[in-house]
Amino acid sequence: MSYQYDFIIIGSGLGGLLCGALMAKHGMKILILEKNHQYGGSLQSYNRKGFYFGTGLHYLGDLDEGQPLHKIFKYFGLFDDINYQRLDDTGFDVFNIGGNEYKFPIGWNSFREKMVEYFPDEEPAIDGYIKEIQKVVELQELNLLNANDNNEININEYHTINTWEFIRSLTSNKKLQQVLSALNFVYGGVKSKSPLYVHALINNHYISGAYRVIGRTSQISEKLVSQIVDKGGEVITNSAVVSIDTSDDLVKSVKTIKGDVFTAKNFISNVHPSTTMSLIPDGGIKKSFRNRMNRTENTLSAFAINLVLKDNCFKYRNYNYNYYKGDDVWYASNYNSDTWPEHYFMYCNVPQNGSEYAKCIGLLTHMEYAEVAKWKDIDSKKRGAGYKNFKEEKAQKLIELASKQFPELKESIDSYYVSTPLTYLDYLGSPKGSMYGTLRDHKNPLGSYIHPRTKLGNLFFTGQNLNLHGILGVSLSAIITCGEFFGKDNILKEINLDDN
Ligand SMILES: Cc1cc2nc3c(=O)[nH]c(=O)nc-3n(C[C@H](O)[C@H](O)[C@H](O)COP(=O)(O)OP(=O)(O)OC[C@H]3O[C@@H](n4cnc5c(N)ncnc54)[C@H](O)[C@@H]3O)c2cc1C
Repeated sequence: MSYQYDFIIIGSGLGGLLCGALMAKHGMKILILEKNHQYGGSLQSYNRKGFYFGTGLHYLGDLDEGQPLHKIFKYFGLFDDINYQRLDDTGFDVFNIGGNEYKFPIGWNSFREKMVEYFPDEEPAIDGYIKEIQKVVELQELNLLNANDNNEININEYHTINTWEFIRSLTSNKKLQQVLSALNFVYGGVKSKSPLYVHALINNHYISGAYRVIGRTSQISEKLVSQIVDKGGEVITNSAVVSIDTSDDLVKSVKTIKGDVFTAKNFISNVHPSTTMSLIPDGGIKKSFRNRMNRTENTLSAFAINLVLKDNCFKYRNYNYNYYKGDDVWYASNYNSDTWPEHYFMYCNVPQNGSEYAKCIGLLTHMEYAEVAKWKDIDSKKRGAGYKNFKEEKAQKLIELASKQFPELKESIDSYYVSTPLTYLDYLGSPKGSMYGTLRDHKNPLGSYIHPRTKLGNLFFTGQNLNLHGILGVSLSAIITCGEFFGKDNILKEINLDDN
């Protein structure tokens, strides 16, 4: 049978683009189909009044020379003409937990020193924590790339240990327990479920070296698209895939919203597994597999405000500020719409003119999809006054909360733009606007693990739902998916990751 393409990739998030760029480098003929007007998924940037806002990349870690993400970015040319700002070494993340401030410095030695300074009686617990996290990282980063021959993940104890129980086993100091858990927002942590490997990899990722992209985050997607196109590949936007047509346990073709039908030898879905299942007609894939994909539990969604500030009013902060109103940083595990907002994550875009003042900042917090579900079936431009008022009321509450720590904020605001779980649902297609896709559960490690292979011989998954979300997780998933075709060890060698 003749095919139009070697690979068709559904979705142009970081996962789809990295797979596309890697395959194009290997001489494959690639087509990427993207439903949105703009490619990049969570890497998209949007422009308001001439200022750019990112959507789903506020900071990234592991970008020091020799670190895993640095090697991956180097391989994909993502340092060429794209600049990154290293965050404050003395505190890239500042946490305000129930009124007490704590800083997370860059580097494990500095982190240790700072924790001991905050908790001088807790040195053994702090050392025990760091030792164990480093052990997980050493085993697990490799393990993520080491599915066995049947492509089953090598489940180890770190998939079955619960993060919160692990932290509580180290110390009875309640404040230290909270501080060590404080980064859970960036992995959508759930107190009773989040496995230790997720906590360890994400904490290590940022503590090892935290950076911001200077300028638009979409520079990353643009760079990857240009590599794909340079090698003869195609990336078509405004082309949602509406059906995946199968026969004899193989995908034959995909059809887009425009009615175009494309064939390929292999297909990769960068879209959430349950969304992918909704594109396959009844009988097109094993029912038990479809049901398992449809049962995946997902991380919570978000509410975000992107603010344009007046000139010279609000100092640029070279760190993120994480505010928790109460003393439980896992508060979102018992999400309560009546007490919302109980938290925010504030970041500043790096001022491009060298100014010491910020021009664009963002406030981000959890929000449950149920809060906006009643508007889900209405076209995004016609949701009307009820939705508009909801957004405005919530935005005011969040700004009010942030203004308690930053009194100059309110007066500094020129304009702002709001995203809700419906925005993430509309723009990313992740169920209920989930921020980080599938939720991993230490009690059900295999059930919450998504393999790159599906029950259709030539359909594969990639992206944040596989192993780990975020820029690091998605990059590792792309290597795992492409490893199915070119051999993972070969790819690791090419990227120079084989010595890690
Ligand atoms: C608010 C927010 C903040 C975040 N902050 C950070 C951060 O600071 N640092 C970090 O490392 N990570 C962060 N993340 C997580 C990170 O952005 C994601 O894990 C990662 O970008 C996901 O990439 P992906 O390729 O898996 O999927 P996505 O980026 O979700 O891309 C999926 C793509 O598929 C497309 N698609 C969906 N359905 C179809 C269809 N039927 N046909 C064609 N195309 C389709 C979508 O339009 C989208 O372009 C954040 C995420 C969010 C939501």
